[in-house]
Amino acid sequence: MSRRILVVEDNQLNLKLLRDILVLQGYDVVEAHSGEEGLELAHRRPPDLVLMDLQLPGMDGFEALRHLRSDPLVSPVPVVAVTAFVMKEDRERALSAGFDGYLAKPISVRGLPGQLEAILAAGPHLEC
Ligand code: MN
Repeated sequence: MSRRILVVEDNQLNLKLLRDILVLQGYDVVEAHSGEEGLELAHRRPPDLVLMDLQLPGMDGFEALRHLRSDPLVSPVPVVAVTAFVMKEDRERALSAGFDGYLAKPISVRGLPGQLEAILAAGPHLEC
């Protein structure tokens, strides 16, 4: 069975790029255009991984992560932050907020599959 990745991204071009790469890699892709929509879709059917844009209209990626972690059905699902921020502090902020990984835009078409495989191989998110 294919692994399913939920992509929460409000930018259509970024969403298309991510979808194209992921589908090519054999993943099933579920799309959400806002944090609210992402929470609903994740709860309805927990994915194997979430890619979360940090800058979203309304609820941002940090707030969406907190909601995902408070949902017992979804809390073990690894969540990877995706952001155009390239500052070192932003990466640290994302990881300390509890994201399981961090991808900087522009997304690396070559690097993404390996990055996601590594995160999936690390297994479910565990609170420590
Ligand atoms: Mn965005």
